[in-house]
Amino acid sequence: MSLEILLKRLGLSTIACVYADLIPVAEREQWSYAQFLERLLCEEVAHRAESRIASQVARAKFPFHATIETFDFTFRSDLKRQMLGRFLGPELVSDHRSLILEGPPGTGKTHLCISIAYKSIQNGFAARFTTAAALINELRVAHNLNAALKPYVQPHVLVIDEMGYLGYGPGAADVLFQVVDQRYQQGKPILFTTNKPLRLWGRVLYDEELARAIIDRTLHHGEYLKLSGSSYRLKGQKFDFDRPCPNEGALLSENTENQKTELTTPSTLGNQ
Ligand code: ADP
Ligand code: MG
Repeated sequence: MSLEILLKRLGLSTIACVYADLIPVAEREQWSYAQFLERLLCEEVAHRAESRIASQVARAKFPFHATIETFDFTFRSDLKRQMLGRFLGPELVSDHRSLILEGPPGTGKTHLCISIAYKSIQNGFAARFTTAAALINELRVAHNLNAALKPYVQPHVLVIDEMGYLGYGPGAADVLFQVVDQRYQQGKPILFTTNKPLRLWGRVLYDEELARAIIDRTLHHGEYLKLSGSSYRLKGQKFDFDRPCPNEGALLSENTENQKTELTTPSTLGNQ
């Protein structure tokens, strides 16, 4: 039986691909047999790790690729990388470290949660991303709730993005509570992003008690971090959400800077 067939039968497909190219390198550099074997096995292990990460990232359904390395901490001076350190190691999962990130649009909440979930994948765990609206809409109409809950309960790390961006209507609090409670029972962390202070979650979910129970479980081993400041999306633009809009008639600008920002209003608001 040929070497290639033997390697493939053992599932060592990377070694099967690379060994022929490595033989002349090994001869030239006079590797020992052990060094050659080690190098082949390293190639196999590295390729398997890369494939595992790629398939876990696909399963996680991130809306965009983001890493902690590409997060510009100089733009967000209220946030230090060290503050996030405890979420970036395996302790995120072993210590059930949930997180609620609150802040206005564009402060990097989604970017940070994707980065944390991505790190957890690199650390060997499985992650899943969803928005609160998608999760609630899916679970509310599920015929078999237990089956529908599985993809959100099974992964080691779950991101629930944009909590509170929409009012969710009847039944929302119940299904969200199911997800949070089942994960809490199993000691699995959730990373929430929200634009609403926690005291308003009851109003968003139309159920004060369940909202409290959700927050209580999430923060038992977790943390709440509030981001502030301007939007990264509007970086470089002179734009202030608190300034009056041109259409607000009587409030029309008192100075020229206001007039400059007016131009950016319709398109940038459309992007939110
Ligand atoms: P939020 O969820 O708070 O509205 P996002 O995380 O979606 O904000 O950020 C909006 C865009 O800006 C994304 O493309 C994100 O990658 C980028 N972004 C936000 N903050 C930063 C930052 N500090 N450094 C690098 N990119 C950032
Ligand atoms: Mg976001």
